[in-house]
Amino acid sequence: MGPRGPRSETEAPLSDNATRYATIRKNSASFAVPPNLVDYHTACSAFSWDRARKDLSGLPSGGLNIAYEAVDRHARGPRARRVALRCIGKAGERRDYTYGELAAFTNRFANVLQSMGVKAGDSVFVLLGRVPELYVAMLGALKAKCVVSPLFSAFGPEPIATRMEIGEARVLITTEALYRRKVEALRGRLPKLDCVILVDADEYGERTRSWRKLTRAASDAFETPATHPQEAALLHFTSGTTGRPKGVIHVHEAVVTHYATGLYALDLHDNDRFWCTADPGWVTGTSYGVIAPLTHGVTNIVVEAEFDAPTWYGLLAQEKISVWYTAPTAIRIMMKLGASAVKNYDLSALRFAASVGEPLNAEAVVWGMEAFGLPFHDNWWQTEAGGIMIANFASMDVKPGSMGRPLPGIEASIVRRKADGGVETVAAGEEGELALKTGWPSMMRGYLHEEARKKCFADGWYLTGDLARCDEDGYFWFVGRADDVIKSSGHLIGPFEVESALMEHPAVAEAAVIGKPDPIAGEIVKAFVALKLGFEADEAIRKELLGHARKRLGAAVAPKEIEFRANLPKTRSGKIMRRLLKARELGLPEGDLSTLESDER
Ligand code: AMP
Repeated sequence: MGPRGPRSETEAPLSDNATRYATIRKNSASFAVPPNLVDYHTACSAFSWDRARKDLSGLPSGGLNIAYEAVDRHARGPRARRVALRCIGKAGERRDYTYGELAAFTNRFANVLQSMGVKAGDSVFVLLGRVPELYVAMLGALKAKCVVSPLFSAFGPEPIATRMEIGEARVLITTEALYRRKVEALRGRLPKLDCVILVDADEYGERTRSWRKLTRAASDAFETPATHPQEAALLHFTSGTTGRPKGVIHVHEAVVTHYATGLYALDLHDNDRFWCTADPGWVTGTSYGVIAPLTHGVTNIVVEAEFDAPTWYGLLAQEKISVWYTAPTAIRIMMKLGASAVKNYDLSALRFAASVGEPLNAEAVVWGMEAFGLPFHDNWWQTEAGGIMIANFASMDVKPGSMGRPLPGIEASIVRRKADGGVETVAAGEEGELALKTGWPSMMRGYLHEEARKKCFADGWYLTGDLARCDEDGYFWFVGRADDVIKSSGHLIGPFEVESALMEHPAVAEAAVIGKPDPIAGEIVKAFVALKLGFEADEAIRKELLGHARKRLGAAVAPKEIEFRANLPKTRSGKIMRRLLKARELGLPEGDLSTLESDER
């Protein structure tokens, strides 16, 4: 398949290697493009965040601003005429934006915001598919020092309104159709929302403005004001087991992590053509679908259409993608279609393939070798971490099924929580909670309006809520979540949000939601529902509830299955025991039932 990265060979598994698959050995002599990280230990000992910060320019007016590092510093240098974004629309149409053009467009939008009186620190929400205006809006708002919150456009009205309420949205950029279908009716809940900007329409109704008119009238010159590296820049939402979604705050300094991880974990080189398949409505799509590739000055390919295997292979070939960052659900669907489907495409430009967001099965890593001549390099992080924390590096031997080793500058450990609130590390090979030593630049600065410290910080560690183990070679292996949140097709879903939507339906007395294992999506959302007296548990009501949830939440979040129960198992304090429902669903041991008060049976 032509020139590429490592030539890999397989060897017998190491004794502590839990996988059935042999370690994939990398042979550094055969790299067509020498990896940025040549030797893991040397890179780790030479690394410091202060040194990494020096790879960036810093703002001429003082401080550090994500948008300046991503756009302007290239626009003012030799990369001004390089394509920064190639946006491929749903019908395959291509629109290119050079770094110079992207600087001008984002300047215009920063001027629009300032002319409307939007101030540093105000929240600007973006609800768009992967269209050029999404990138211009996000980067322009960062230049104006607003706090940017991208929302997944497939969310239903409820998750959108909840997030805009929590984030106190001042401005929303969206399309007319999304506004009409998902926002307009709930605008009463958003008293702080001054203005909605529609990218594809002129003014529509009250308090909506036209993107076209506003940006046309604005100047394309803008000097990003001095930005303190600790000023808030991004607001992403994540889900917990209980309560509403949590707003995770990241600061401009996060760009140091984005750059360094782009360098080491994604092995970005100057002439790369990079494709991150994630939507910017989720953190991967922002950190790696927008920021990291642009800080490296590479050409970032943006695809508006949803996943379709042959279309993706065609795009990889036509666009000569050299570095590809994708997700396990898509890989598993491709696997199902077979490696032979890939062989009709010339993928000789592809040098490195990585995956994130959910456990990547060892089979999928190895299948990458068969289909693409490359293993998929799994890596791990989460919204709170802001950037890749653990990775399989281009130069490093891959143990299929492992998430890899911590990035230079990141100290990871497996810990056990102690009764006194502290933590202790466990021995190699033992299971525990994955923890990260605090202090990396993209570490969340907190949950909006919430006290995060007590729950997830202890003894200088950030506790991730993931269970994992670390083998004697320092490779980390994912075990599961410590809580009840659900990962479906890479999307993190809070059971409480789904249960609340179901409870809004007049027929529902109680609802509990679990993640049910699924061979493709990892997990699907399954709901257990107890109906109110007078309602019969039949097909008609099941369909009605599924439809109700889809309408409220959007298809990505709504349950795929509903099972009716007369009662749901509860603790003495009245909390529904999702854990028990899940154990019964999977035929697993029911565990400690001492707090069980009422049972479903
Ligand atoms: P999010 O905050 O939505 O990015 O979700 C983060 C969560 O996804 C992590 O806490 C893990 O539970 C899961 N996750 C992310 N990457 C991986 C991976 N490589 N392997 C297993 N789970 C992962």
